[in-house]
Amino acid sequence: MISAKMEKIMNEQINKEMYSAYFYLSMAADLREKYLDGFAHFFEHQAQEEMEHAMKFYSYINEQGGRVKLDAIEKPQATYKDVEEIFDLSLKHEKFVTKSINDIYALAAKENDFASMQMLDWFVKEQVEEEGNMDKALHMVKMAAKAPHALMMLDAQFGKRE
Ligand code: MG
Repeated sequence: MISAKMEKIMNEQINKEMYSAYFYLSMAADLREKYLDGFAHFFEHQAQEEMEHAMKFYSYINEQGGRVKLDAIEKPQATYKDVEEIFDLSLKHEKFVTKSINDIYALAAKENDFASMQMLDWFVKEQVEEEGNMDKALHMVKMAAKAPHALMMLDAQFGKRE
């Protein structure tokens, strides 16, 4: 069983993961409009992963006898200046999510809630990967921004994400 505090903070995390999905899908839609289909594919995939993250918390709260309570999802930014801005915002967003996961972990540790700590271990690892991927992508996009054909090549490469 999880505490009332843990239930509340995990419900907030469901909202953050859902918002992440919304945010990345909004970026994908903007990229589709610009015919940058490879980058759009990358962010559509990313959005799907965020939905899965939300569902992991959803299932865990239920398993632990808690109650899932859904809140309104904030409206994401609709248009973006360029691909660099998109990856820059994505990296910042992943850092925000990492901090949020760490806060939940800190609460679990404080409460001696070992089951939640174990569940959160997956997310701690996942965030290292997410930040790393976005950081690398941002660097590549920054380099490619100097030559349009390089950006098109990157777009094709990002379209191969499975
Ligand atoms: Mg996530």
